[in-house]
Amino acid sequence: MTSELLTQLTLARADIDRAEHRRDDQQWWIEAQKLASTRVIVLHRGQALVRTTDGVVQLLQQSPVDAPQGAVQVLLGVGPDGDAYIGALLPDDVAQPQAPEGYQWRGLRECGADLDAGDAGLFTAAAALAHWHRAHPMCPRCGMPTEPTQAGWSRTCSADAMQHFPRSDPAVIVLVTDDDDRALLGRRVDWDEGFYSTFAGFVEAGESAEMTVHRELFEEAGVRVDRLRYLGSQPWPFPASLMLGYRARLAAQSPAAEPDGTEIVEVRWFTREELARECAAGTVRVPPAVSIARHLIEHWYGRELDVTWSRP
Ligand SMILES: [Zn+2]
Repeated sequence: MTSELLTQLTLARADIDRAEHRRDDQQWWIEAQKLASTRVIVLHRGQALVRTTDGVVQLLQQSPVDAPQGAVQVLLGVGPDGDAYIGALLPDDVAQPQAPEGYQWRGLRECGADLDAGDAGLFTAAAALAHWHRAHPMCPRCGMPTEPTQAGWSRTCSADAMQHFPRSDPAVIVLVTDDDDRALLGRRVDWDEGFYSTFAGFVEAGESAEMTVHRELFEEAGVRVDRLRYLGSQPWPFPASLMLGYRARLAAQSPAAEPDGTEIVEVRWFTREELARECAAGTVRVPPAVSIARHLIEHWYGRELDVTWSRP
């Protein structure tokens, strides 16, 4: 086991300056939304326009004059040359604009792993903000409408001026190993036979991330663990999670692994050889590269897993 954190998590590679200081600069923001050099990424129902060339996927970055109207505008960041990157978040109820020649509408889950770091960061932030704006049209305190403020990084109530900010819900995701260095994976009730992943769950109110690791593994797989090690995090904007990745070891006094029968219907210990053999045979599938689960499994496995071993 290496001691470093996971640094190449697919949706945690953003390299853009978020330019937080510009969010309150109203004059600059109004100008930036009109400048021809500004790059606009349009989102509609979680999808953006992309082009695929030789397996590399690129986001369409439009000039403001070419971007559709009627969207919530959010400042995603500022490039090294000072150009603003804006997310134009279209309402769900408008028809999807026609894709320009050579481009298609694609979701972040489908194409996130094939984007470069810059595009992955822009799409991830835009997707997270799009969900939040869509879900918060009204003030949770008084029920009156809210309007986007701070270049799309807050919403302000029209009646009581209360400001509301985008939230991320923390969740833990854990790869457990035993004394023989086998990995414990499980199959969720809604997954096809042969699909396996690590165990995950939301951090509840009043709980630490480590408490969640212990609770979820006991609830879902019936095991007690110790020797927790934090490995890194990535945003998971489907719709609003922050995934905190851990390794843990099966405790000496742990009961045998057993699925809870409701959320998890199967749990299984894998050696590396078993996982490789069954994946190659097509009887086992692991999560796709966009997920932190995939990276946790690869961290244990010792190298990247073949792309054909991914489930859809
Ligand atoms: Zn209010």
